[in-house]
Amino acid sequence: MRLHCALCGRPMNQAAVMIGAMPVGPTCARKAGLIELSKRKSGLVFPVTVKRESRTLDLFEDGVVE
Ligand SMILES: [Zn+2]
Repeated sequence: MRLHCALCGRPMNQAAVMIGAMPVGPTCARKAGLIELSKRKSGLVFPVTVKRESRTLDLFEDGVVE
């Protein structure tokens, strides 16, 4: 399933933040100030936490709880 940025519509590998259920890429999120907004936990913008990019196996080793 391919992600598309909710702001610019471009395909991306990984969302930086979520606006509700809409993923936003790192570039748009930074430009729109959503990174800072997500840190404030205002309720609608959530950070998408990725500890290490391009190492998906590590996500399992880190014990992601769903
Ligand atoms: Zn975008």
